[in-house]
Amino acid sequence: ALTSQVFEFQAQARQLLDLMVHSIYSNKDSFLRELVSNASDAVDKLRLEGLRDKDLDADISDLHIRLTPDSTARTLTVADNGIGMTRDEVIDLIGTVAKSGTDELRQKLAENDAKDAGDLIGQFGIGFYSVFMVADKVELVTRKAGETVGTRWESTGDGTYTLDEIADAPQGTAITLTLKPVDEDNAVNDYADQTVLRRLVKKYSDFISWPIRMLVVKQVPGEPGEDGETPEPTVEEVDEVLNSQKALWAKSSSEVSKEEYAEFYRHVSHAWDEPLETITLHAEGTFEYQALLFIPTQAPFDLFMRERSSGIHLYVKRVFIMDDAAELMPEYLRFVQGVVDAADLSLNVSREILQQDRQIRAIRRRLVKKVISSVQELQDRRPEDYQTFWSNFGRVFKEGLINDQDNAKAILKASVFASTNSETEPTTLTDYLSRCKPEQDVIYYMTGESRTQIERSPHLEAFRAKGIEVLLLSDPVDEVWVSSGLDFEDKQLVSVAKGVVDLDGDDAESTDEDKTKQQEQFAPLLTWLGETLTDEVSQVRLSSRLTESAACLVGDDFSMTPQLEKLYRASGQ
Ligand code: ADP
Ligand code: MG
Repeated sequence: ALTSQVFEFQAQARQLLDLMVHSIYSNKDSFLRELVSNASDAVDKLRLEGLRDKDLDADISDLHIRLTPDSTARTLTVADNGIGMTRDEVIDLIGTVAKSGTDELRQKLAENDAKDAGDLIGQFGIGFYSVFMVADKVELVTRKAGETVGTRWESTGDGTYTLDEIADAPQGTAITLTLKPVDEDNAVNDYADQTVLRRLVKKYSDFISWPIRMLVVKQVPGEPGEDGETPEPTVEEVDEVLNSQKALWAKSSSEVSKEEYAEFYRHVSHAWDEPLETITLHAEGTFEYQALLFIPTQAPFDLFMRERSSGIHLYVKRVFIMDDAAELMPEYLRFVQGVVDAADLSLNVSREILQQDRQIRAIRRRLVKKVISSVQELQDRRPEDYQTFWSNFGRVFKEGLINDQDNAKAILKASVFASTNSETEPTTLTDYLSRCKPEQDVIYYMTGESRTQIERSPHLEAFRAKGIEVLLLSDPVDEVWVSSGLDFEDKQLVSVAKGVVDLDGDDAESTDEDKTKQQEQFAPLLTWLGETLTDEVSQVRLSSRLTESAACLVGDDFSMTPQLEKLYRASGQ
């Protein structure tokens, strides 16, 4: 065609493609799930757009997805009549990897050998590009709803792709894969085989809410005529719907298998890992709603990136409304993925309405409590899974200690902290209290940049000598929540680096008399030090907190720790 143009993939995209072409990821079937998932998203979007824009020139009467295998040509086409893409969108969405975290992925891949690469890809989640695991050549024909001209994209997964303008593209997107040869040694399925496709759709995409159709040949037996003769059976092509389209969140959890939940999780989260925990909620009464939420196993690459969108999809009576309903989940639970289906919201509910809606606030309150109690349950019953959770999401979860006053106590209880009790095992506060002497009425902590740095501090000496356990807090977020005055079971959290720490209260050896004597003895030295250092320190006093070092610096009860000062300075305050 006249308009045919060759483009280069963006560098990052090329690298990801390379990974796919050389297919280090073992589960090649995943490509079908990704294509169907994208098609389903595209149909969701068109349906919404059609509701919003009555003048949109698009047919939304029979939205569906279609698989067309051709075993002779060895091709498979996955088509949808959804929203489609403009030419610019094709370049942006298919030619580039906009996904944040790509740099990190590349860096990790450079450091790791191919064996771990599969894991990394699983963690990162590869969408459309996964087609190159199974195809030598991919053609994508698309027309955006409301537009007249379509776009044809083609690539063999090397560094380039071509774009053409086409006049007669049907609305939506059709992706045709020219399949690689079937490799039985590598257990690669024949994706042009209807039986294989039927099985894979059932396994990966059964819950997709739009029909996934495939034309199949059916023999229709002839009706015996009046003459008693039965004519030859005729062969007809009929549409078969491959998926049951059942909304998993509407079912009771006993009816749904672990695998079904996992596939649904992968669809809503665009991730490739397993859910660590599945949370279901069916609320009846004033507000009727259902929720199906997941805590992922692996942290997504963009967990700490500002532009990250919420993982909660909002439905109203089984109809998809939006895929980042941030109003339903606070930021400190931003790793939670899933679906909330509210029965009483209007179908054209807007983001502005969501922000003010009393029902949404009530649902959110309930979901938050449910997620926190699920974390607590992991801690109580599944220590290994809890550990996975904590190493991936603990730092995020702890943000709730600052931002969610109502639930801070529950969050504190469900958290763990490094402490002087063990080199490797973090402790719950409950366990901390169970170990300390009955007369200890506070919880001691020290903050710093790392465990090693904290452990070198002279502030810890006396505590170590007396066998008093101290929490060692080294996440930036710890600085902030410890200074917010939270207590646990009526015990204040007290920094060993601040103010006067009275470690002698229970110590018979050191009497008040001893103390007075010491004070007198050291008075001249203290006065001299105080005068000499008058610009540097506000007070010089005797301390019982040191056993080996001669002196140390402490903050006032209300002063900032050095780390917090740094944090504020870094943020420009
Ligand atoms: P993700 O689905 O996680 O965004 P993908 O690589 O699967 O990543 O897809 C990239 C983007 O390409 C999608 O976000 C979507 O905007 C667009 N896209 C992919 N497939 C389709 C499709 N069938 N119809 C419309 N847009 C699509
Ligand atoms: Mg996708």
